[in-house]
Order: sequence, then C-alpha cells, then structure tokens
Amino acid sequence: MRPEILNPLFADMESLDGVGPKLRKPLAKLGLTRLRDVLYHLPDRFVQRHVAATLDDATVGEQIIIALTPTEHKASGGRGPYRVMAQDEAGNICALTYFGRASYTAKKQLPVGEKRWVAGRLDQYGQMLQLVHPDHVASESSDVMGKRMEPVYPLAEGLTQPRMGGLVAQARADLPELPEWIEPGVKQKHGWPDWNEAVLRAHKAEDAAARDRLAYDELLANSLALMLVRADNRQRRGQMLQGDGHLRDKLQLPFALTGAQQRSIDEIAGDLAQASPMLRLLQGDVGSGKTVVALEALLIAVEAGAQGAMLAPTEILARQHFETLRKMAKPTGVEIALLTGRDKGRQRESILMGLVDGSIDIVVGTHAIFQDAVQYRNLALVVIDEQHRFGVGQRLMLTKKGRVTPHCLATTATPIPRTLTLAEYGEMDVSRLDELPPGRQAIDTRVISTERFADVVAGLERHFATGQQAYWVCPMVHENENADLAAAEERYKGLKARLGDDVVLVHGQMKGDEKDAAMARFSAGEAKLLVATTVIEVGVDVPNATLMVIEQAERFGLAQLHQLRGRVGRGSEKSVCLLMRGEQVSETGRQRLALMRETQDGFRLAEEDLRLRGGGELLGTRQSGDSPFNVADLEQIQRLLPVAHDDARLLVERDGGLDSDRGTAARLLLYLFERDWGVQLLRGG
Ligand code: ADP
Ligand code: MG
Repeated sequence: MRPEILNPLFADMESLDGVGPKLRKPLAKLGLTRLRDVLYHLPDRFVQRHVAATLDDATVGEQIIIALTPTEHKASGGRGPYRVMAQDEAGNICALTYFGRASYTAKKQLPVGEKRWVAGRLDQYGQMLQLVHPDHVASESSDVMGKRMEPVYPLAEGLTQPRMGGLVAQARADLPELPEWIEPGVKQKHGWPDWNEAVLRAHKAEDAAARDRLAYDELLANSLALMLVRADNRQRRGQMLQGDGHLRDKLQLPFALTGAQQRSIDEIAGDLAQASPMLRLLQGDVGSGKTVVALEALLIAVEAGAQGAMLAPTEILARQHFETLRKMAKPTGVEIALLTGRDKGRQRESILMGLVDGSIDIVVGTHAIFQDAVQYRNLALVVIDEQHRFGVGQRLMLTKKGRVTPHCLATTATPIPRTLTLAEYGEMDVSRLDELPPGRQAIDTRVISTERFADVVAGLERHFATGQQAYWVCPMVHENENADLAAAEERYKGLKARLGDDVVLVHGQMKGDEKDAAMARFSAGEAKLLVATTVIEVGVDVPNATLMVIEQAERFGLAQLHQLRGRVGRGSEKSVCLLMRGEQVSETGRQRLALMRETQDGFRLAEEDLRLRGGGELLGTRQSGDSPFNVADLEQIQRLLPVAHDDARLLVERDGGLDSDRGTAARLLLYLFERDWGVQLLRGG
C-alpha cells in the first residue's frame, strides 16, 4: 500500500481544474495521468523575453514583451488571418495576427484604443512587423512582467504552453513535505535543495542543482529497488542443480563453442549448483551465440531431474527458438514443447498435462507459459530471452511460479554501455559474450542518399537474381505508429508492383498468424523480400538474407541500427547493409552513420552512441524508450548513477529492512517512482 502522504501526488489529472475527457488524451500521450507525472514533466528549456519600450528597441525573431494599443481590427475574408493593428508608444505599427478560432479571443482581449501588454515573438511579414498568436495579452503590466522567463514544455497535439504551464502550476501549488531520503553528505556536497523546493525550482528557471536532485531521486529509487531484489534473492531458496552431463554429452553441435560461450556456461553451471537462485544476465551481441548457452543451461536443469522454461518476447521468436532448440537437442531425446497464447483446445490441454506430469522437460513460449492455469511438476530454471522487453517487476512475477524460486537466466542482445547495464540490471551477475563465433564476415555497410532510391531498387533485382534474399526496413516516423504503418504499407505496395509477388510485409499491428505466415514464406525462401517496420529487430535468423536496406537510417538509434544490421551476415555469403539517409541530417546524425560504417562491435557502438547523444539529443532517447528513466537524462545517468548505486548499497547494507528514519523515507521514494515491487519484497521477507 502506498503511504498516505503520497496520495495527493497520485491523484488523477482530472482532479485539476480544466482537465476533462478532452485533455486526457494528449496528456496520456505524454505519459501524464497523475499529478506526479506532470510535476516530473520538466521543461525542455526556458524562453527569455526582452522587455522592449518600443518596436525600435526590438529585433525580428526575438521574444519580447511590449505595450501596444490596438487601432483597428481587420478580418480578412475566407481562410485568411484575423489581424489587430496596434501601435507602440512611439507610434510604430505592428500587427497581432490570429488564425482560425483564435480570432474570438483577439476580439475580446484587444479592444481598440485600450493599452495592452503583449508577450510573443516578433516576426516580419513582408514589410509588416507582427506577433502571431501572442503568448500573453494583459491589461496590467504586472500580469505580463512575471513572464520574462517562461518554461517550454514538451507538448502533444491538443496542448499549448500556457495550458501545460497552468497544469504544472496547479499541481505544484500544494506539495507535501516529504522526509529526506538522500544521504545528508551527498546532498550537502552537491548543494541540492529539498524535494519540494527542487520541484518548484526545476519548473521556474534553468537550475542544475534542482534538476540533478530530481534525477538523482529517480536513479536512487532504481538502484535501491534493484539492491532489494538482489538482497531478497540471496535469502531465497532455489534448487541445487548439479547436472551429470549425460544429456549435454549427447549434443552434436556442428561447431566448437567459443571461449566466451564456454566461460558463460561454466559461470551458469556454478550458479545453478548453489542453493540460492541464480540471477544472471547473459549479455551478448547479435549472433554471439546465446541460444546454445541457454540450451546448455536448460539441459543442466533436465539432467538434474527438473524442468526449464524459455520465455520469448514475441510469438515469432518463441517459434523460432522452439525450432532451433528442438533441432539442436534432438540427439538428447529431451521433450520440448511450444506454448503461446494462440494455442487452444486439445493441443493446449496436452501441453499443460505434460508440464504437470513432467513428461515435457522444456517449454518455450510467450508469457502464456506463466499464466495461472499453467502448472509445472518441477520448474527449476527460467530463461528470459531479450530481458529488456520485460520489466524487473514482470520478471519477479514470473519467477514466483516454482515451488521454490527458479533460477533465472536473462539474455539481452542489446549491447548497452556499462553505466546503463548497471542501471538496468544492477541486481544481476553478468556474463558477457564478447567474442563472436569464428568465420563471421564483415558486413559491408554503406551510407547512401535517398535520391538514389531507383538505383537501390535496381540493385535489389540484381541481388534476387543470384537467389539471395533481402530485408527492407521502412522509415520510422517518430511518435506516430499509424504514420509508420502507412509508410510501411505504401512502400510494400510500391516494391511489390516493381518486384513481383515474392514480397512480404511484416509489421507490429498484424495478427499473429498473418505475421507467422509471412515470416514462414520468407524463412522458407519463397519470398525474396521482407518489408518490415522494426519488428524484425530481434532474433530473426534467415542466413540466405544477405542484403538489408534501411530507409531514413538517421532516425534510428545506433543500437537499433546495429540490431537491424545483425539480421544479415548470418550465412556464408557476403552481406551488405545500405543505410539510406534523408535529405536533412544533423551533424550528429552523420557521425552516427559514419560510425556504423566503421565498426561492427556492438559494445563500442553503444558507448559511442551514448557519447554522441549526450550532446543534446537526449529527448529522443527518453522517448525511444532505451533508457529506463524518465527524469534523468543520459548525461545525468552517467554522472550520478554510480553515486546513487553506492548510496543505495550502503543503505541496504546498514538498514536492509528500510526501518530507520532514512529507510522509511526511502520507501516513500520507491513508491514515488513506482518501484514498489522493491518494497513488496521487504514484506515478503
Ligand atoms: P544470438 O541469439 O546471440 O543472437 P544465436 O544463438 O542465434 O545468436 O546464434 C547465431 C548463429 O551462430 C546461429 O546460427 C548459431 O548456430 C551460430 N553459432 C553459435 N555458436 C557458434 C559457435 N561457437 N561457432 C559457430 N557458430 C555458432
Ligand atoms: Mg537470440
């Protein structure tokens, strides 16, 4: 239960004046549904307005505050703007220009002959100076003088700056006094304000200390929750799994394991032999061979007389893992089943039976394998593939399934920098596959301009003539899934018209069986080209696909490009990746694409991506969801996370139950950032 003192902060947005069903949608789009959300919706920047005595004193393009007296209202016919002509103290003329319905406001606010204080951006339209949709109009100077510095918030359609500013002002009008959770020494050293002061200040002006404090809170909450998970895990009892090797000996792998794979398997085997449950992350770049490591782990569980489960984030992947594992494990004779949300009736019943009576040794599936109806005879190991698709809270739910806590092996192909590994997986031990299997060919990566579209399509035809296949990744229009979809469908139709019927489309909103059918055609080699949105990002393995085209590549993060590129270069043929760039690419964008050309080392790309983006494209990161944080930006994460991590560790060491005064405050913090699963672990003991 959330402590009462926090309840006002979790009140629904509709408890604010002026928020009804209409505003709900745009607010929700920004992730703002409760008061706390809007308090943490921090300005991107601030406008500074220059108080100009007359228009002579102002420059075009500048944000100004000025006294003007309307002289005439001019409605233009049709769809033209509504203009209010006005005069400054020196008699200079400028227009206040309104489009659409805003003219109603203008009529009310700007009576002819009455002096008004106006704030807005001074523009020039032909010979005429104008302010288009001024931000503020008031009859008293004092009402506008307070707006010399104003926050600029990230908005969604249907919201305006004054609207957002008003909501923030309401939300912060009555902040609770919260006890301090930050270690006093840390707080003092950085000169950080108290929580509620920090909230107020962060919305008022550029204020590094205030923003750092709020970011630190988020980082601390995260580190603390992960520490609690770790501490809790140490106390739990799992099964000691000591495999005798009789199954693993029967494996007939067509290759020798790499050193990194062998090392990881040894680390895993060591964990499994312990009584406390394993909590390990297997981090390895695309194609580094995580599946076989997972299989060895699962076989250890089966050798020890228990069952294992492998969870995949999508049906496509579950199916693919199932096929791969079944093929590889065939000589061992272990029974492997596939269970997804789509299995119904008899088939499903028989799998459920097999899991209960233990005749199925390993089950692969989507989250369907953890539904209540699914019971296991003796589940001892859970492999979670692509852990970053699941939250820690979700993982905790999953591992509650066994009689005793199952061991957990999470895998991720996202090579993230070390700081972020700490942020996302700080509670786990890490095995890194930092060595690719031998014989991998470098992928020939080229950056080309969109203008060469026709050449690219012609190149595709030549490529298909050799019998090889290709991927085509559609442009990503940020923040709008429907637009992405439309773009993908359009491209699909165009390519199909040009290249014939052997083209399939896969996107996120397709039904499961349609998607599988398309994937199956492509895997079987019947389809030559797979047109896709980014759903092919993870795990898909078609060695004969040796060409990848990525449209508007500059819009993708490096990590994502790297993942996408990893779909090719899987067979013996030489592979090519064409990064098409749009017409306007920022300097950072250029550097990123150049880096893609230069290296194929995922960990290096991750570090560089962080460095490049640290320079000002932080927002993109926040929205693209590759950071687990909403408040802290990448620069703050790098600078403050190690501090927060140490702080959290000390706190848990000293006061593991969070019972001291500071511990109690820290509980509040966990609730505030909705890491309550951390607190629940304290209760569970
Ligand atoms: P990941 O899941 O890490 O992206 P996979 O497990 O799908 O990678 O492996 C990619 C490919 O590499 C598969 O075709 C697999 O059979 C192959 N592979 C794995 N380990 C080795 C190895 N040690 N030597 C050669 N090929 C390997
Ligand atoms: Mg994989």
